[in-house]
Amino acid sequence: SEANAPQELTDGFHLVIDALKLNDLNTIYGVPGIPITDLGRLAQAQGMRVISFRHEQHAGNAAAIAGYLTKKPGVCLTVSAPGFLNGLTALANATTNCFPMILISGSSEREIVDLQQGDYEEMDQLAIAKPLCKAAFRVLHAEDIGIAVARAIRAAVSGRPGGVYLDLPAQLFAQTMDELEGQKSLVKVIDPAPAQIPGPEAVDRAIDLLKGAKKPLIILGKGAAYAQADDAVRELVEKSGIPYLPMSMAKGLLPDTHPQSAGAARSLALKEADVVVMIGARLNWLLSHGKGKTWGEPGSKKFIQIDIEPREMDSNVEIAAPLVGDVESCVNALLDKMGDDWSAPPAEWTDAIRSKVEGNVAKMANKLQNNNNPMDFHGALGALKTIIKERPDAILVNEGANTLDFARSIIDMYKPRKRLDVGTWGIMGIGMGAAVAAAVETGQPVLAVEGDSAFGFSGMEVETICRYDLPVCIVIFNNNGIYRGTDVNPTGGSDVAPTVFVKNSRYDLMMQAFGGVGVTATTPDELSRAVNEAMDSGKPTLINAVIDENAGTESGRIGNLNPQSVVKKK
Ligand code: ADP
Ligand code: MG
Repeated sequence: SEANAPQELTDGFHLVIDALKLNDLNTIYGVPGIPITDLGRLAQAQGMRVISFRHEQHAGNAAAIAGYLTKKPGVCLTVSAPGFLNGLTALANATTNCFPMILISGSSEREIVDLQQGDYEEMDQLAIAKPLCKAAFRVLHAEDIGIAVARAIRAAVSGRPGGVYLDLPAQLFAQTMDELEGQKSLVKVIDPAPAQIPGPEAVDRAIDLLKGAKKPLIILGKGAAYAQADDAVRELVEKSGIPYLPMSMAKGLLPDTHPQSAGAARSLALKEADVVVMIGARLNWLLSHGKGKTWGEPGSKKFIQIDIEPREMDSNVEIAAPLVGDVESCVNALLDKMGDDWSAPPAEWTDAIRSKVEGNVAKMANKLQNNNNPMDFHGALGALKTIIKERPDAILVNEGANTLDFARSIIDMYKPRKRLDVGTWGIMGIGMGAAVAAAVETGQPVLAVEGDSAFGFSGMEVETICRYDLPVCIVIFNNNGIYRGTDVNPTGGSDVAPTVFVKNSRYDLMMQAFGGVGVTATTPDELSRAVNEAMDSGKPTLINAVIDENAGTESGRIGNLNPQSVVKKK
């Protein structure tokens, strides 16, 4: 009889896995170790995809990018203390970029940690995580796992997306409870990121402002790309006839070759515009805080801003027409109110932008067509620009200083969410994590264009790429160092300058060490051949692209942020 049947048990391990799966979170990016080794094993046994990295920061960056690409929180799993801290860097970065992510870390025994009695990997992880993410929770009882995972998901994806920390002490995993009770304790989150509709008065205010504009401009940010409201955004741009400027990761939301793109006339557009519509973009350092020389005459602009986060409004300058809500709802509300007889902006304005774009594109085109050996940035990127044009579904990962700045302006993107880069912080180290997540989440080929310095931060993950046989082609722009490879030690001592690496390094051999394809390319033609071969084969490939060590400028295009001493010491 049922009463005599042996009790079916579940435990913390299984409840965590069941809670994630119930909510359609089927991939874990992590690094195994105490106390979560078995969690990874069991997750794989239960049909989850478990992608193990060599360092937690890259697993975390992968989870963050998974969140950006899918609108579901990417899950990163780490051990305690140092593993947690490594993952925390990525969690903070995800939060800064408004990417939804959940960092799950094992932790040590509460009783010992709280009395600071010196446990294995002792650290009060919850307290440390709290100020660096959107929300942080600890679970002490197996029956609370379902609720905790639900709260983590909601916190990550609702409102402005961000990073959530979930602290799971070692003792939780082995806690058992009745199987049926356990299943009942799980929560499937209903409507985790509900639409947020803007108020009708806010929409009217924005429309009135836009109607009076002589030189309107739309700025698309990665919040708009994240929203996956691609058709609505395109309709707004095309119906309004307003020139638009994509922020770095919003490139491709509309094709960069779109006739309304002001991408190649950025300076003119920012300086001259009178009404600027911000869509999922912030007026932070990347837009000179909405003021100063970049923005022309003081007081010459009025801003309309669409953002899901009310407190983003007036963060740097006055926002004349705040539209608080999700991008899709706000854009659709604007479209509704625009009606069918919307008049395009004055031709004087759109023609000025258009001719500036055409002039700059033509100027650039000449520079891109050299076959120099060693390569300069333009020749090498000219080759890669053609490849992305021919393979618009490929995902471009991009980091570095000069490698980033040049690639961003040279390589046109044609589809939404195909460009992954250094984001809001402008950091190095996202490369291989982003490449892995892009391949795993989308199945599309990935082209990672990396400065030699930038690559170094996550370079060991080439083993991960080979291990999972991912269709990732890494191109390293190797100019022997940071910014350039030509700095010398002014003392004449035997140490090289702090910005210089081993000359003529063979990064391609790193890939061969793990069974991938490694190639050195010294001309744009060779580079082009090697990348096309990699993209056709889908084999993990690393191309060491030899760039003139004299090419490149200090700090790339943000030299103004780099303090330099004016004092000459003898
Ligand atoms: P970029 O760097 O491309 O300018 P930011 O990361 O600075 O973009 O800005 C993205 C903005 O988008 C953030 O302020 C965020 O709150 C907002 N955002 C994110 N998702 C949505 C959404 N679904 N709807 C509206 N705003 C969003
Ligand atoms: Mg370099």
